[in-house]
Amino acid sequence: MPLNLLTNGKKQGRLFVVATPIGNLEDITLRALRILREVDLIAAEDTRHTRKLLSHYAISTRLVSYHDHNKESRAPELIEKLKGNWDIALVTDAGTPAISDPGYFLIGKAKEGGIRVVSVPGACAAVAALSISGLPSDRFLFVGFLARKKKKRTEVLQGLKSKGMTLIFYESPHRLLRTLADLVSVVGDRSAVVARELTKYHEEVIRGSLSEILATLSDRDRIRGECTLLVEGRKEKEFKSDELVVDELERLAKEGSVSVKDAVRTVAGKHGISRGRVYREALRLWAS
Ligand code: SAM
Repeated sequence: MPLNLLTNGKKQGRLFVVATPIGNLEDITLRALRILREVDLIAAEDTRHTRKLLSHYAISTRLVSYHDHNKESRAPELIEKLKGNWDIALVTDAGTPAISDPGYFLIGKAKEGGIRVVSVPGACAAVAALSISGLPSDRFLFVGFLARKKKKRTEVLQGLKSKGMTLIFYESPHRLLRTLADLVSVVGDRSAVVARELTKYHEEVIRGSLSEILATLSDRDRIRGECTLLVEGRKEKEFKSDELVVDELERLAKEGSVSVKDAVRTVAGKHGISRGRVYREALRLWAS
């Protein structure tokens, strides 16, 4: 184990960013266990939750809470300790800290304070779900949680519509149906995967089009557990036909003599696509 970094002649502690399991307690690396055992303090999002993991591995390192509601007051205390040569491990409830959880804030402060931040990689729900999804994984876009407000959600989804790569969302079980429905109406009925309760007893992977998954899940009394949703990116073919549609609508809009309704009927008919899809684009063009 190397000596702690020396900054201005002073010894400093290190902040270890430690990935923990997303369900199955065996999904933790040997190095993570050693670091959790050796550090002076573990900053945990939920100390009760992390204590279960530590007890499973007979680790008795001291824990302190660090979560979304105390991050602003707790981070400076932790930075002081790091500057005073404490080695600290940061863990969150599941997976890799800073991926859609409050970890990012402390890491940012550590960076500002010139503290050495060390990665101890491991599980991450987004990567675990992508790796078994069967969707294109050469390029992907991690979206995380969508905004709750309808207007903001729609804006974000509109912005994602043209992305030609797999989209990854984290979603709470009680908002999943709404998100699936919003996706169908904004990005269209694409291939998708819902990975629920990965690595846990009730693990389930549902594949199909967004509307098929929506139908499957709508039949249930209640959706439980943690869910990651993956949606196929926009296909090249879709791009081309949409570009043609927009070009033709633009031409008709410039002519000025054609009504929105007639333009929509002409273009939708020519390309054999739904009028609703063309209508949205036409309204935008005729309004501009
Ligand atoms: N930092 C974590 C990571 O590396 O995956 C994610 C933290 S975020 C607060 C929690 C979200 O991750 C859940 O709402 C769910 O969308 C996803 N998630 C966590 N555990 C999961 C699991 N076992 N199966 C599917 N999705 C999971």
